[in-house]
Amino acid sequence: MHAFARQTFLENMAQTSPNPLALHVVRAEGNYLFDVDGRKYLDLIAGISVCNVGHQHPKVVAAVQKQASEFMHVMVYGETVQTPQSTYAKQLIHLLPASLDCCYFVNSGAEAIDGAMKLAKRVTHKTDFVALVDAYHGSTQGPLSLMSNDYYSQAFRPLLPSVHFVKQNDIAALANIPWDRVAGVITEVVQAERGDQWSSAEFLQSLRAYCDAHCALLIFDEIQTGFGRTGKLFAFEHAGIVPDVLVLGKALGGGMPMGAFISDRALMAQLSDQPILGHITTFGGHPVVAAAGCAALEVLLESTWIDEVSKKESIFRAGLVHPSIKAIHGKGLMLAVELANFETVQLCIQKMLNKGLFSDWFLFAPNCLRLSPPLSITEAEIQLACTQILEVLEEM
Ligand code: PMP
Repeated sequence: MHAFARQTFLENMAQTSPNPLALHVVRAEGNYLFDVDGRKYLDLIAGISVCNVGHQHPKVVAAVQKQASEFMHVMVYGETVQTPQSTYAKQLIHLLPASLDCCYFVNSGAEAIDGAMKLAKRVTHKTDFVALVDAYHGSTQGPLSLMSNDYYSQAFRPLLPSVHFVKQNDIAALANIPWDRVAGVITEVVQAERGDQWSSAEFLQSLRAYCDAHCALLIFDEIQTGFGRTGKLFAFEHAGIVPDVLVLGKALGGGMPMGAFISDRALMAQLSDQPILGHITTFGGHPVVAAAGCAALEVLLESTWIDEVSKKESIFRAGLVHPSIKAIHGKGLMLAVELANFETVQLCIQKMLNKGLFSDWFLFAPNCLRLSPPLSITEAEIQLACTQILEVLEEM
């Protein structure tokens, strides 16, 4: 029966890598996943920074059930009043600086990045973008155009022309950008897929200054960093500047698919003018998804988890001391454990799985192991995970 399920997965679903982990999950709860054999796995990646409040939080499940019993999809985005959407938008805006006061919900991170890029072109009447080397902003063709890494993008060219790449924290390189053509600068505060590398506050402030001086929009991709992962609700709060567009995804939907781009009301108004319907989505802001996201945000804000992020980071750092660990990059509960090479990381992930720890790797940091657990992970769970990771490293 189990082998049959695995075969059905492998034979009927498009595969994206030659060796999928193929863990057969049948249940998830709190900080754990359960497989078809009843084995329990401590989740050290939270669906890649999605399940920040853990799995199946009772308040999130109740919100989903309630909304599903009232109405699900009724009409394309923006035509009908749907309280779950507008309540969630209001809640988000209330938590953000005054200039981020208008929210467009979509279905995924990539779609939200695409919407932000369209907004930048529409309001600036310019065409070019600035993006960072080795950034990942999504896999559809807009965000893919922002990917400097040829291995992943070459096969899909032509993509959007006129994207200028700069290295993270290379302030001097910004002087060489043709700013008169730049509609927007898109960056993460932490380059997640590069192994959780932080942009310096000076670099982000320079981007802000260049955008201000040249009428370009500063777009922050907080799809991974949002909702408490770095110890602040949003990572831009560490840098002391506010972007023109904030792009959210992943934890935004509380375990359901959702993206959003949030900007100034006057800028966003241009999406309903020349042309009208400047951005269209059927399912964006789906009421069940919005209800889930709103409930998850409430759970997060009522908890002490964001305040505990820094302490939990230090427990990981104190516990993961071993000759095979060269460094631990990142901040908060968004950490990259640097090992020898890609093969070591893959073996480590497999051996961790055997011990009941679920982890992952990074697109552009092949020698790093990903740690981005639910923020609800306990100190005891972190300590146990560290002990077990050290055991794995000893065995290798
Ligand atoms: N930006 C970042 C920083 C991401 O990590 C991701 C997803 N890993 C995306 C954008 C794309 O989001 P999605 O997969 O929902 O399209």
